[in-house]
Amino acid sequence: KSGFASIVGRPNVGKSTFLNTVIGQKVAIVSEKPQTTRNRIQGIYTCEQGQIIFIDTPGIHRPRHKLGEYMVRTAHATAREADVVLYMVSAKDGMEKGDEEIIEFLTKTSAPVFLVVNKIDLVDQDEVSRCIGSFHSRFRFAETWPISAIMGTNVHALIRKILDYL
Ligand code: GDP
Ligand code: MG
Repeated sequence: KSGFASIVGRPNVGKSTFLNTVIGQKVAIVSEKPQTTRNRIQGIYTCEQGQIIFIDTPGIHRPRHKLGEYMVRTAHATAREADVVLYMVSAKDGMEKGDEEIIEFLTKTSAPVFLVVNKIDLVDQDEVSRCIGSFHSRFRFAETWPISAIMGTNVHALIRKILDYL
């Protein structure tokens, strides 16, 4: 098995951190500042069951200047060629303004979309449930996975599930 998984989500939800945890080396720039990831960086996860080629994206957002526009195009192109789209959100921040256009974008994607609720180490179970509920009311997700990219919670189980879809 082999395939592409693209990661979409607002800046700072933990996309690069997730990649680093999965691939086990620094494959993307992790920063407090939004939009640090300027390039599509592919990390390849390999195990006995197969391989997943992860594509980090700069995030889908409303372009404010030329570079923003370029990054938005890159993100859309990335998600289009994916076998699985991971929509990462933050359990701590929930749904924010930037999520609107990502959800709108997801409706145009044919690949199965996983809702990945990251940073569950920062909130209690009720808040995770509320967060999941708010996103489920907006889109039909193929899978829903609460994780902590930093702690590694549920990350390996999510990986196995992605492989199921390839
Ligand atoms: P990106 O913009 O989506 O790529 O987000 P980053 O991976 O750069 O992470 C943004 C910030 O969130 C960094 O300070 C990370 O250390 C932090 N972060 C990422 N994942 C987690 C997590 O699971 N738990 C906590 N507490 N912080 C996280
Ligand atoms: Mg990043």
